[in-house]
Amino acid sequence: MGKLVDEQGRRVDGRGLNEMRPVKIEVGVLKNADGSAYIEHGKNKIIVAVYGPKEVHPRHLALPDRMFIRCRYHMSPFSVQERKSPQPSRREIELSKVIREALEAAIMIEEYPRTALDIFIEVLESDGGSRGASITAASVALANAGIPMRDMVASCAVGKIDGHIVLDLNDQEDKEGEVDLPVAYMPNLNRITLLQMDGKLLHEEFDRALDLAVHGCEQIYGIQRSALQDYYFKQDR
Ligand code: ADP
Repeated sequence: MGKLVDEQGRRVDGRGLNEMRPVKIEVGVLKNADGSAYIEHGKNKIIVAVYGPKEVHPRHLALPDRMFIRCRYHMSPFSVQERKSPQPSRREIELSKVIREALEAAIMIEEYPRTALDIFIEVLESDGGSRGASITAASVALANAGIPMRDMVASCAVGKIDGHIVLDLNDQEDKEGEVDLPVAYMPNLNRITLLQMDGKLLHEEFDRALDLAVHGCEQIYGIQRSALQDYYFKQDR
């Protein structure tokens, strides 16, 4: 197994230990959806479309006291090196669930009883940390759809590679490293809405990793805000 961090503390893609990959977000990229966003997070390329609030079909799925949210995370067959079957895998079903839960915590679902909201996440290219990038983009797409939220959810992963706690693992680091710890966070409410961990950390390492993840999410939050501001500023002109 190759070394993931060199003597100078540089990673395989030249980043420092606390350095995030470049993140770029575009708002309102699909004309037929109520809200949409496109994100490039490192080499991840993901598009999100949101439809709703709308009537629930089939009607028996309607919830009397809140909005019913469906979320589909899907990796396109060309998103990875070996063609991926277009059928939803177990992993995609799990990610759809945890992403929905991470976003639902922010949405004022109680304000919209008996309605439905659909969130479609299409991963066009994947390079580690796609669940985080999906949450980040979906949150922006929800804002673009005008869905009332308590805060925006920003997300990124931290992990441990070659014994170092690092921010934002890429695919190689995710596969060859010791720990992957994705986090989603609402900065204004100071609440975590997703926390998963693959691997083992000492208590002290975990505290440090979580701090770093929260710091990463705050950076992402700034990018989400400016993407929305840019979009609505352009609309106003
Ligand atoms: P995340 O994308 O949130 O990090 P995982 O940790 O499960 O989710 O996956 C890490 C990475 O493994 C993905 O980003 C992707 O690059 C790669 N991967 C996932 N599923 C497949 C697959 N079926 N074939 C090839 N690579 C995959």
